[in-house]
Amino acid sequence: MTSNLSLYPVGIEEDIIIRINDVNPHIICSLCFGYFIDATSIVECLHTFCKKCIVKHLQVSKHCPTCNIKVHETQPLLNLRADRTLQDIVYKLVPGLFENEEERREEFYKSRGMLIKKKREGEENLGPKLTTVFTNPNAHQYKYDEQICLCLEKHSGQHVELPTMTYKLRSLEKKFVRCSIRVLVAHLLAIIRKKLDVPHQVNLQLLCCGTVLDVEMSMKQIYLMQWYDKPSPMLLFYKIEVPG
Ligand SMILES: [Zn+2]
Ligand SMILES: [Zn+2]
Repeated sequence: MTSNLSLYPVGIEEDIIIRINDVNPHIICSLCFGYFIDATSIVECLHTFCKKCIVKHLQVSKHCPTCNIKVHETQPLLNLRADRTLQDIVYKLVPGLFENEEERREEFYKSRGMLIKKKREGEENLGPKLTTVFTNPNAHQYKYDEQICLCLEKHSGQHVELPTMTYKLRSLEKKFVRCSIRVLVAHLLAIIRKKLDVPHQVNLQLLCCGTVLDVEMSMKQIYLMQWYDKPSPMLLFYKIEVPG
């Protein structure tokens, strides 16, 4: 099941159907893996992030998190520009994003006993504005992350001929796992490899909904792109990579 959205651009009579899965990579912040909030671009390279995310990043680095270009010699914040057009697109493509995202974050921090800056009276009608703030200095640590439940299933019929033997991929003893939404495909593959003693000649791949996943992808990205409307746990298949 994929979610379809219809857009009505000015001057075009027919609906244009855009699959959210196709646009997600362009409207997700690589720092927090959520949809852009206050989309902000670096002037030098035009890479875009949430305003809060990139400002936070530039407190500890002067370089773009995506391409590593130097943002500015001394004052990197001078080279940031709000991308209102992109932010409007995000809000149009993801109905209810702002409300949902804010509610989600509030619930998440409440459940961990963290303080949240409350909306002031009369602030309701000023349009999208994120009032949630990080007040816990440890919020960047993995143990405070949201968790996702996964089911790691072996793809059917996995064996490969090695020079010395026929290697047959086993199933994991514990296939249900909970992990941080920031965990990458590469991390999971390394764990599977270790648990199953996979020989070094054999490469593994992870799939979701029949798509081979890039090792750099996080669980959150996969969830947003492939598992958005499906029940937990998120089902991932591991298989032997066939060369060629
Ligand atoms: Zn972000
Ligand atoms: Zn960049």
